[in-house]
Amino acid sequence: HKITIAIDGFSSTGKSTVAKQLAKELSYVYVDTGAMYRAITLYAMRKGFITKDSFDTDSLIKDLPNLNLKFAFEAARGFAAIYLNDENIEDEVRTLEVSQYVSRVAAVSEVRAKLVSQQQLMGLEKGVVMDGRDIGTVVFPNAELKIFMTATAEERAKRRFKEMKQKGQEVSYDEVLKNVEERDHLDTTREDSPLVKAEDAIEIDNSSLSLDEQFNTLLNISNE
Ligand code: C5P
Repeated sequence: HKITIAIDGFSSTGKSTVAKQLAKELSYVYVDTGAMYRAITLYAMRKGFITKDSFDTDSLIKDLPNLNLKFAFEAARGFAAIYLNDENIEDEVRTLEVSQYVSRVAAVSEVRAKLVSQQQLMGLEKGVVMDGRDIGTVVFPNAELKIFMTATAEERAKRRFKEMKQKGQEVSYDEVLKNVEERDHLDTTREDSPLVKAEDAIEIDNSSLSLDEQFNTLLNISNE
């Protein structure tokens, strides 16, 4: 019997860190759906389809069939990295610039339709831990376990800022906070599949939980 665990929530709640850990512990596949939206965003940026003040959605939609996304395990990282047409773009999709554009790209219905069907296929064969915004509501409405992670915007920005600094990215805390708040707004107000807690999801506010505490909370729930 394969089991699907859906982990949804706001930006930078640390979903991916605990989701990865949980998948490893259970020997399940881990899928970071945010990386897929980021990959399409990077593609649109490179092609000049999206800039600060313009977005040529028609050209992006026309190009979607040429866009091939996959994950491949990378021993050095200990998890699967995202590939766009066979190019490893795992580091490139984590920049503030991509974060600043991604929620506009994720609001395009054709983009969502493409990714949702790919995600559903990825959950067919094995137990899977999938993290995103619409996993428990749209991708796997029948998931055996649904988690909804929240934390204050300030706490999330603090964590994201620290992580970006460690990677040597030039950002300020204020920019990161602004981006977190903007994405919260765009993700919860878009027309297609807005970010909302599934009725049957278990909500975890991790503002004051350490990573170990979050992991143990999740593991306990999974084993129930
Ligand atoms: O999780 P991450 O922060 O990498 O996601 C980046 C963005 O991708 C989110 O802010 C959201 O706009 C979009 N996204 C989405 N649906 C998902 C996963 C991510 O709309 N399932």
